[in-house]
This record gives sequence, C-alpha cells and structure tokens, in this order.
Amino acid sequence: MALRLYNTLSARVEEFQPLENNEVRMYACGPTVYDYGHIGNFRTFVAVDILRRFLLQSGYKLRHVMNITDVDDKIIRNSAREGLSVKEYTAKYEKAFLEDAAALNIETPLLARATDHIDEMARFVHELEKKDFAYRAEDGSYYFRIAKFPGYGKLSKKDFSGMEDGARVDVDEYEKDNARDFALWKAPKPGEAFWETSIGRGRPGWHIECSVMSMRELGETFDLHAGGEDLIFPHHENEIAQSEAQTGKPFVRFWFHARFLLVEGQKMSKSLGNFFTLRDLVLKGHRPSAIRFLLTSVPYRNQLNFTFDGLHQAASNLEKLRNFRLRLTSEKFSSGSNDAIAQLARETGERIKSALEDDLNTAQAHAAIFEMVRKANAAFDVAQIRQEDVPLLLAAVDKFDEIFAVMKEDDLPKMQAVLEWAKATGREKDISPALLEAVNSGRLSDSAIEAKIAAMEAARKARKFDVSDRIRAELTAAGIIVENTKEGVRWRRK
Ligand code: AMP
Ligand code: ZN
Repeated sequence: MALRLYNTLSARVEEFQPLENNEVRMYACGPTVYDYGHIGNFRTFVAVDILRRFLLQSGYKLRHVMNITDVDDKIIRNSAREGLSVKEYTAKYEKAFLEDAAALNIETPLLARATDHIDEMARFVHELEKKDFAYRAEDGSYYFRIAKFPGYGKLSKKDFSGMEDGARVDVDEYEKDNARDFALWKAPKPGEAFWETSIGRGRPGWHIECSVMSMRELGETFDLHAGGEDLIFPHHENEIAQSEAQTGKPFVRFWFHARFLLVEGQKMSKSLGNFFTLRDLVLKGHRPSAIRFLLTSVPYRNQLNFTFDGLHQAASNLEKLRNFRLRLTSEKFSSGSNDAIAQLARETGERIKSALEDDLNTAQAHAAIFEMVRKANAAFDVAQIRQEDVPLLLAAVDKFDEIFAVMKEDDLPKMQAVLEWAKATGREKDISPALLEAVNSGRLSDSAIEAKIAAMEAARKARKFDVSDRIRAELTAAGIIVENTKEGVRWRRK
C-alpha cells in the first residue's frame, strides 16, 4: 500500500506519489515571527513534522522548505510601535520559534526568509503586471486582478463569479466572503519601513512571499504544500492565483491542511484567558515530550480539543511507554522466543505503518503501540517474554518513535532553558513550583550520583545485573553519562 492523503484541492483522499524521481518537494507555510508561537501553531507544525518523518521513513527523498514570514502588516505595526527595525524586531521571535520547534523535536526544514527575497518579489510583481494580472494603484501599491484568473476559488470552493471587478483589499488577512483584488505590493504609509526596488518603494504582501520562495526552491509545479486550515482562504487561494497566472502551469499537486486546535472547546483567544504559548505550558511544569505526544494523538484532520486533563493523560501514557522500554532494556529474560510475542511485535510495526498510510491516522498508530504494551506487559508479569522477543519489541517501539519522537529523555534541559528565559525576561512570577520541582529533580547532586554508582558497582560484583542495569538506566535518564575506564567508573553530566 502507499500513502493516501486528503487533498484540499480535489476534496478527496488520493494516493500520494511524487511527480519525479522518488523525491518529494514540499513547502510548508512557516511562522509569522511577531510573537511567541502558541500551541495551535505548533499543532500544525507538528502535523507537518509527522508527514515529513513518515515520507522519510517510507524511503522518499525529501526537499522540504519552510518560509519565515519576517515582514507583514503585524510586524510593520509592532516594530514601529517598539521603535525597532523590522530585522531587530523579528530576530528575537525567529530565534524563539526555532528553539520551541526544537523543544518539540520538530525537524528543521530548509528555511527561506521573506526579507532575503524582496527583489525577486518585486520582479515577480512586475512580470504579473506585464501579463496584465497586476495593476498599479495611485499610491504605488500593486494589486492582483482576480477577475482575470477564472480558477479563483478552486481551493476554497468559493464561487466568486458575482464579485465586483476592481474592488480592492489591502490588508494581508481578511474574511472569507471578501473576494477582492488583493495587494501584491504595498507602498509605504508615512513612517513605515520600506525597501527600494525596481517597482518602487514598498514591501511585499504576505501571499506573494510564499509564491516566490516556494517556486524558487521547488520549481513551478511541486508535490505538497502545507499549512493550517485558516490559510486555505485567502492565503493559499492567492498563492495559486499568483503562481499559475505567472507560469500557466499547475502550482501544487497536493494541498495539506491541519484542522485548528481548540482549547477546552473554544477558539484560543487572549481575552478568554485560554491562550497558551508553548512556553506558557512549560512554565506551568508540562514536559515538551508530553505536549508533542498530545498534539499527535488526534489525526491532523480532526479537531484537537486541548485540555489540561488531556495533557496529564498524555504525560501518563508516555510514562507507560517509557517504562515499558526501560523494562525491556534493564530486565533479564530467559533464552528462546515466544512466537505469540514475536508475532505481536511484527504486527504492531505493520499496524503503525498502515495507520499512517491511511491519511496519517496518528490515533490508530498510538492505539497499536499501546495494545502491544498492554499485551507484552501481561506476558512480562508471567515471565513469558524471552530473550529473542526483546529486540523485536524494541524495534516496534523504535519504529513508532521515528515518527512520534517522544521517547528520548531530554525534557529537563529544555525546561531548564525556559526557566532561564523567564528569569531573563522578567517573567519570574510565571515560574510554577511544578517547573522548579521538575528541573531540580533532574539535577542529582554529585554525592547522590557517587552513591548510585557505588550501588551499581556493588550489584555488578554480586552479579545482580538486573539491578546494576536499572541503576545505570536511572542515571542515563537523569542526564549522567557513565563510562567504564581502566581506572574504574567515571561519570560526567550531559
Ligand atoms: P502564523 O504564525 O499565524 O502565520 O501561523 C503559523 C501556522 O499556524 C499556520 O500554518 C497557521 O495556519 C497555524 N495555526 C494558527 N492557529 C492555529 C490553531 N489554533 N490550530 C492549528 N493551527 C493553527
Ligand atoms: Zn504561505
């Protein structure tokens, strides 16, 4: 079987194959770096990361590009308000975004910054003008003439035939019924930042950024384009119009959209007090791995209702999975194999794969691994796991983790980093006792480490290897590296 994906353009689930040479070319709309990323943003970025990892696991080569929107209406407004240049203003949030993405084990795609491609964007607008798809307004702004592009609406399935020709909208984001000629290029208002280009002073509109950078990196027609569902209209509809008007070729084959995350059943908003950045959750003491686990527990096309109960549940499920793995690596088993367990492990690997091939059904993949854990734990308890079963069970967990990326015990340094950031930015009051406790528990004192190592060595000498292995695993989990040297056991912190 092959991967089947829902394509917003055809409104069907289709079998996915790349256009060329087993190489997938994929573009994902990245963050607008004007603030810290919230958990809704990260729902979409984690969904794209699952897609990315599954394409790679399936054996495709992948060229995956993500833009950083470092100029748009909000950025221009906020940077001016703070008296900073656009670059100074966005650098801080770009850095924060990359740190947060790393905390969630999101692999980094090739990055393209809008402000590094301004001249190309100006040339693109000029080309559209020559083809009569764009026109210049009195103030020096340029607009896309949507009446000239009959396919307008094909992604969002809107019928725009009755629209008024020449009516314009000059903000980057607008409502669904607002089919107007949209801004490709904006002349500066007094006091606003601008670039000096071949089509005059100004800055690109948000939509043109993605058309230019995606086609530059991936060609005029490429395989996959991803983002959250709010981008279908106007952003992606406008990208299609600009790109196809320019090239006369289909722009993108598959459109992938993640459904919005809600918090306690409601749209996230600052005024409702249910708006959380990733850092807000870490400050409350939640682990990045548990957050990632929760974000992947619901398939990307289903609404994800974030609740704190759900987050606690995700953390405890993840603990179960980690304990299971620890049990496999630290206990002793009698020789031989148990056919039923060996088969369970193999079937689990297959079930994970077919769940993901089914439009990335991550919930089914979670269910498959937990069913294995439940059955294998029952077999453990009656000593029915044999030596030869262990690598097969571990392989199933590893295969799951190649996609879900939650097993590594690396939360504490990430939480520590958020703690330091809070101290440095005047947010001490938001540091919860739970975060302090988590960070401190992870920091064993030197004497506690020495004592554990002494106990480990004593157990080893007494040939109680299950005990010595378990202590070693505890130390590893706490970020302590233990090495056997000629001079005896040495240790250091990671
Ligand atoms: P932005 O930084 O606003 O450009 O958004 C970055 C990404 O997050 C885009 O793909 C958005 O569609 C997505 N996004 C924004 N809010 C949510 C949400 N509540 N749930 C899921 N994705 C979202
Ligand atoms: Zn985009």
